[in-house]
Amino acid sequence: MYYIVLDLEWNQGTPKTERPEIPFEVIEIGAVKLDEKKNIVDRFESRVCPVVYDKIYFMTAKVTGITMDELKDEDEFPAVFKRFVTWCGDDFIFCTWGSLDLLELRKNIAYHKLEPLGRGPVPYLDIQKLYSLELDDGKSRKSLEKAVDALEIDKSDVFHRADGDAWYTAEIFRRLKRRDLEAYESYDVYRLPGSRGEEVHVKFPTYSKYISRAFRDKNTALRDKEATSLKCFICGKETKRYISWVTVNGKQFFAMGKCREHGMMRGHLRIKKNWDGATYVMKTIRPAKQGDEGSIRMKEKNAALQAEKLNKMQRAQKSKLSNSEK
Ligand SMILES: [Zn+2]
Repeated sequence: MYYIVLDLEWNQGTPKTERPEIPFEVIEIGAVKLDEKKNIVDRFESRVCPVVYDKIYFMTAKVTGITMDELKDEDEFPAVFKRFVTWCGDDFIFCTWGSLDLLELRKNIAYHKLEPLGRGPVPYLDIQKLYSLELDDGKSRKSLEKAVDALEIDKSDVFHRADGDAWYTAEIFRRLKRRDLEAYESYDVYRLPGSRGEEVHVKFPTYSKYISRAFRDKNTALRDKEATSLKCFICGKETKRYISWVTVNGKQFFAMGKCREHGMMRGHLRIKKNWDGATYVMKTIRPAKQGDEGSIRMKEKNAALQAEKLNKMQRAQKSKLSNSEK
C-alpha cells in the first residue's frame, strides 16, 4: 500500500464567468508517493492547460505566481489526469492537507467526463487533521507553512505550488509518529452513498461515524430509522434511549442512550448540505463523558424555551391580525 500525498493548484472565474459545475479548474497537480514506511518513492508534477477559464484569477496569480503563458503549452486535464492515475497505481490511499483537494479534483474529473475516483465517498488521510491530533489540540487547523515552521522543516521549496506543497505535506506526514492515528480516515463526499446499502459505517478507535445517502429533505432524514439510530460504538447494538435527539438550531442534534454492556453513549447528528445541495446526515457516536448529560439537558431546556417564545410570537401575531381585521 502506498500513500499518495496530493496537492493541487486551481484557477477560478470571476462572478461573471464562473461555471458552477467547475468553480475551480485544476492548473497544477503535485504528488509524492510514500511506501508503507513513509519513505519517498517517487514524485509527480504536472501543470495543466486550462480550458474553462482563460485568465488567471488575480488572487491565484498573486498567491501562486502562475501565469497563463506557463500553462498554454501544457497538456489539458484529461491527459494529465490519465498520467497521474497510471502513476498512482492501484493500491494506495490519498493524503492531503485539509479537505478541499479531493473534492475539487473530483469535480474536475466529472466535468471532463473521466472515470470517477469512486462511486460514493472516498476515504483519505487529512494530514492537517492528523497533525492536530498528534501535536496540537486535535481541533484547531494550522496552515501548512505554520506546521512546517513548527517542525523546523527546511523551507527550500516554494509554497503555494502543487509540487512544493505536496512535498511539505509529505515531510510533515513523515514526521508524525502516531501510526495509530492513521485509523482516523476522512471521507470526501463529492458523491454521497448511492443507496442504504452503500452508506458509510466506520468504527474508529474512540468513536464511530456514519455518512448517509442523500435524503429528499431534512424531515425525511429525521424520519429515517438508520440515520437516527443510536448504536453502541463498541458492540453496535441499538442502545436504550436515555435522551432523544434534541436540537437548538435545527442542524445539530444530540442524544444519549445506554448499552447494557458498555454503558452510556452520546450521539451527535448533523444535517448537512452537500456541494450540489443534497441533504445528508453525518453522525458520530462515542462513549459519554462526564458533563455530556448536563450539556444535552441544557440544550433540551433551551430548545423548549425557544419553542415557547416562537409560540408566543405566533399567537401575538395572530391576535394582531384578527384585531386589524375587526
Ligand atoms: Zn455495547
